[in-house]
Amino acid sequence: MTESPPRVLTIAGSDSGGGAGIQADLRTLFACGVHGCVALTAVTVQNSLGVTGVSEIPADTVAAQIISVVEDIGVQAAKTGMLASAAIIEAVAPALDRVGIGSGKTPFVVDPVSASMHGNQLLADNALDALRGLLFPRATLVTPNLDEVRLITGIEVKDRVDQRVAAEALHALGPEWVLVKGGHMWDDPECLDLLYDGREFIELPGPRYDTQNTHGSGDTLASSISAALSRGASVPEAVRFGKDFIVRSVAAAYPLGAGVGPVSPFW
Ligand code: PLP
Repeated sequence: MTESPPRVLTIAGSDSGGGAGIQADLRTLFACGVHGCVALTAVTVQNSLGVTGVSEIPADTVAAQIISVVEDIGVQAAKTGMLASAAIIEAVAPALDRVGIGSGKTPFVVDPVSASMHGNQLLADNALDALRGLLFPRATLVTPNLDEVRLITGIEVKDRVDQRVAAEALHALGPEWVLVKGGHMWDDPECLDLLYDGREFIELPGPRYDTQNTHGSGDTLASSISAALSRGASVPEAVRFGKDFIVRSVAAAYPLGAGVGPVSPFW
């Protein structure tokens, strides 16, 4: 009899252009041989030029999706993407506790998505406290880019020394592991991501590609890491897998529409 593959739950928003959000998550999970489940948080009206509308899903519906999926299907890892509002985060946190996601139980990756690469806001300003106070302490791993680091900690990362200071500040908010992504450190010839668990810094260098088509890269990284965690990988193993996965996906990115095209998990 055919067995069920590992399952990963993504708690995230939809991108109608199919480049980022749950579309990137499901594509990546499929490419990693994992079944993806979704707790949808918001519908964005979006194409390659940006986001022109957002419609939030009611917070209790987001929580109900999490409970429904886990109680029947069961998941071996979960991740967040766009969470839109404080009300949604406040509903998600107790739902996670109820089904045993995060807080040292089922691995839980928090990708603190705050804005699209076009600068469109995907998280309300007043939701940062809920993100820091309710999700970071439950997280196995948080994966901020440098814009998100600035919003969450106030630290402006300009070089690799600042990157370490930021990792310490983020770890103090309670996650087990922190991955400070260096892709936005434009002066650096490499994309150096820094992984930290409060004891050891692990540097993950990677090539920087000359492409403008990087839409959905954060989602693809967090999803591929979650897929590896769902198969029982340790956090450093899963992050190395995810880093390799995103490097290949950026190398295979394709143009779409008149704006920014997506990274591709199919090589
Ligand atoms: N739209 C949605 C629904 C997303 O979840 C995200 C990122 O998580 C984005 C847009 C932005 O992606 P990017 O920063 O790659 O443009």
